[in-house]
Amino acid sequence: MIALALMGLGKRFGSVVAVDNLTLEVEQGTLTALIGPSGCGKTTTLRMIAGLEMPDSGRVWLRGRDVSGLPPEKRAVGLVFQNYALFPHLSVARNVAYGMRSWPRRVRTQRTAELLDLVGLPEHAQRRPHQLSQGQKQRVALARALAPQPNVLLMDEPLAALDAALRLSLRSELRSMLRQLGVTTLYITHDQAEALALADRLAVMHSGRLEQEGLPHNVYLHPKTPFVASFLGRANLWPGNVVTTKDGRATVEVAGKAFTVPTRTAQDGDEVYLFFRPEDVVEGDELSLRVVEVEFQGVRWEVHAEWNGLHTLVYLSEHADPGTSVGITIPKDRVHLLPKEYPH
Ligand code: ATP
Repeated sequence: MIALALMGLGKRFGSVVAVDNLTLEVEQGTLTALIGPSGCGKTTTLRMIAGLEMPDSGRVWLRGRDVSGLPPEKRAVGLVFQNYALFPHLSVARNVAYGMRSWPRRVRTQRTAELLDLVGLPEHAQRRPHQLSQGQKQRVALARALAPQPNVLLMDEPLAALDAALRLSLRSELRSMLRQLGVTTLYITHDQAEALALADRLAVMHSGRLEQEGLPHNVYLHPKTPFVASFLGRANLWPGNVVTTKDGRATVEVAGKAFTVPTRTAQDGDEVYLFFRPEDVVEGDELSLRVVEVEFQGVRWEVHAEWNGLHTLVYLSEHADPGTSVGITIPKDRVHLLPKEYPH
């Protein structure tokens, strides 16, 4: 069942198109990470779902109901922000219980206790927010958002204010808590590692548009555009031209060498990028690269190299001196063609 559906959402601020014809569905009980660079329209999208911003065009559906005309309080969405937004004068328990004000007292008290257990803070019920660590504050914010059993949980960079170690541990806890509760979640982040780790589905935004949506590993392995390829991890993008196409394969000329690559869409004469990830390259004798710079990263060496004038990033298991040559092979199934211009 689709719990959240956005249909052709659009929003402008003056001459800025913040969100452009965005269509997206989120399946009940799953987590979709909405990811993209700063200013691509993520927060505006979330605010339109919550009813805090009215779209110029398009509709928002929650659990099969068109809520586009409803005020925020009638939409039953839970919100968690980067800055916690807890009520400073209320105890932890009363913060959590806040959205259940109209519930019978006994049920409210019981659910508050259950949620504080879930987020690991049963001993902190009577504390005030200023007596909590940053990670504890975000746990309280999560419990508060979940308390009234929202149709959908909207999280906007919830871990961004935490230090790196805490972010990692809270990230995996968050994932198991949301799984356990089966909460439908739209999770905004600009951190691709966080999105890949947490999400059931990934939606990549760029300049107000949804550029690609799918299973995280599919989007990572099969990006449709140069933007998605380089936003999700490191990418080699070599410019080339399609010389011929035949039987689902294209012969592409890149810096004077011909490569044969599978394709479903390329046509003769197309300008394209040959795309492969640095971790896919193996040592071999297909191409000889000139090493420019080497960085040690513990598990591997990150080698910035040059091949026929094209910058190339590869990961190697051994050190290579700048100025020397290394031989590599790019496995055939790891090379893809991407269009130079993405047809929107
Ligand atoms: P970030 O990751 O930096 O939070 P974002 O992807 O969430 O960015 P939005 O906050 O949705 O992006 O902003 C999208 C665009 O709309 C930006 O160009 C932003 O400057 C603009 N914008 C957002 N809100 C307003 C507003 N209230 N008035 C004018 N412009 C706005």
